[in-house]
Amino acid sequence: MEVLMAVLHIRKFGDPVLRTRAAEIEKITALHPRLVEDMLETMRAAPGVGLAGNQVGVLERLFVWQVDEEHGVVINPVITKRSRKTEEDEEGCLSLPGIAYPVVRAQRVRVEGIGLDGEPLRIDAEDLQARVFQHEVDHLDGVLFYERLPEELKREALRTLRDQALGITPVRQVPAEEAL
Ligand code: ZN
Repeated sequence: MEVLMAVLHIRKFGDPVLRTRAAEIEKITALHPRLVEDMLETMRAAPGVGLAGNQVGVLERLFVWQVDEEHGVVINPVITKRSRKTEEDEEGCLSLPGIAYPVVRAQRVRVEGIGLDGEPLRIDAEDLQARVFQHEVDHLDGVLFYERLPEELKREALRTLRDQALGITPVRQVPAEEAL
């Protein structure tokens, strides 16, 4: 069977879907494999290393990720463990083009959920992969990464996003490994 993949439209700053909590997926349907393929394609084309349902206008709890040679999807992800040790690293977002800021995240997390096959899934992640998972679960809760910044940087980020939206400042290219 030929599967034609499609690059989906990535929702951007100002779209209320980004501020909405996505719902649990109660039943994996025949449409989900196609959605996941399209989300992987969209993430790679962007390019980025993670993409959550909200970002393509789907208010369902799932995200795709790709770090180094590995990629995958997690449905109904829950972070069940976080290391006390944190790490600060530059982070951007495919839905917030043009901004990147250092964000403090747990250095290691455990994510539990289910896979496309409906089987339970558990991934212990660290560093960039752990960062991606935390960023994507935030998306599913309607939380954007600049909200995790100290007050002053948060204001600066919002100012930049608004200026870009108004065409006052050009949109800066954020490196792929920082776009989630
Ligand atoms: Zn993002």
